[in-house]
Amino acid sequence: MSIKLGVSACVIGENVRFDSGHKRSHFVAKELLPYVEFVPVCPEVAIGMSIPRPTIRLLDKDEIGIRLVETKDSTADHTEKMEAFSRKKTEQLAGMDLCGYVVCAKSPTCGMERVKVYKESGNAASEKSGVGLYTKQLMERMPWLPVEEDGRLNDPVLRENFVFRVFALKDLHDSMAEGVTRRAIVEFHSRYKLVLMAHRPVEYKSLGKYVANIADYDIDEFFTEYRMRFMKAIAHCASKKNNTNVLMHLQGYFKRDLDKTAKAELSNLILAYRKGEMPLLAPLTLINHHLQMHPDAYLSQQSYLNPYPNSLRLRYGL
Ligand code: SF4
Repeated sequence: MSIKLGVSACVIGENVRFDSGHKRSHFVAKELLPYVEFVPVCPEVAIGMSIPRPTIRLLDKDEIGIRLVETKDSTADHTEKMEAFSRKKTEQLAGMDLCGYVVCAKSPTCGMERVKVYKESGNAASEKSGVGLYTKQLMERMPWLPVEEDGRLNDPVLRENFVFRVFALKDLHDSMAEGVTRRAIVEFHSRYKLVLMAHRPVEYKSLGKYVANIADYDIDEFFTEYRMRFMKAIAHCASKKNNTNVLMHLQGYFKRDLDKTAKAELSNLILAYRKGEMPLLAPLTLINHHLQMHPDAYLSQQSYLNPYPNSLRLRYGL
């Protein structure tokens, strides 16, 4: 099964913007392409707006709230149409096992955060505090879904975290493909213990307790809560300090297998990573090598060691 990725249509190069142009992201349209199946949506075109079309913006109309109106004519109000479309579309997408969504930044329709909201009293008094109308509905309908903006994906840390979450959600969906069972959840959770340790140590502990008591819950309710908490936890980027702790934890598994020189080599690489002199990939490559020489059933199934294809080259910048 492929990884379904929702995307603002203009981000993969479709000429659907107000000026008939696009906002193609090389990373999304080219580098992610071999791994995903895009589900492109242009909400403005979908509600019948033309290409080209007048620009629109979010306008705070105090008592009636934030409206999606045309810049040059605030009586041309597209709010109701956009909200109705967004409800219908996100309901449809919720049934498609999407694993993530890349939206176009700054757009009053698709922006995820810091979208300009104008005041009726004049253009100057704008605030960057809004969320695009469509993306707001998307995030409310699927709060567990990894959603990221095209521009933020140029940051190597945010990019890695987003792609990692997409692959993790895909793994969660696949793990439940035969039905949501206690065993499937426990096995999935077990594979992500080191990941949780690196991303959110607090949730590593509390989610661990929650899973330990899985027999006390209705399985469907448990899964809904688990998915939410798990996806929220891994949305925190793994810090250098937490990654170092996990690497040292991994090192402990090989203490009987490695001689003094090999132990020192691994310790030095972990330290070099901690000091910012080496990417995370360096100690991880050595650990994966040791794991091949000294197999360990628990470690080899840990998603932390191989979260996504190496060909994505995401850990070089970490
Ligand atoms: S930002 Fe959204 S609404 Fe605007 S052109 Fe891109 S896909 Fe369409």
